[in-house]
Amino acid sequence: MAECVFCRIAAGTLPASIVHRDDDVVAFMDIAPIQPGHVLVASAAHVENLYGLDPALAGALFRTAARVATALKRALGADGVTVLQANERAGGQVVMHIHLHVIPRRAGDGLGFSWPATQPPRAELDRLASVIRHGLAGV
Ligand SMILES: [Zn+2]
Repeated sequence: MAECVFCRIAAGTLPASIVHRDDDVVAFMDIAPIQPGHVLVASAAHVENLYGLDPALAGALFRTAARVATALKRALGADGVTVLQANERAGGQVVMHIHLHVIPRRAGDGLGFSWPATQPPRAELDRLASVIRHGLAGV
């Protein structure tokens, strides 16, 4: 995936402000941060998204995100941290190489999601839980 920007960053052929690098993951500053200190944690190898993600790589990605989040608290004095992971265009993914956003937050920073919470009846929650359980059986 020579044209993939995150593969190029992982390979060191595209400049990035590196926070952490190991055999499995690379963490670097987002060039379009929504807060100062916004870090991306990506796989070193090209993996498009979360679907079917290797469990060891999933662990490596989240371990690094947790370490970066802790560093954002300690080094930047963040009041909180938001971790975001998006899949496919409809899910909000822009670069088709798996990554987690680790975003330091400040009380009252004004960031937020549109979160139009609903209150479905228990029967609907149970129905959807059953559909998803059956879906899990094939994964
Ligand atoms: Zn890639």
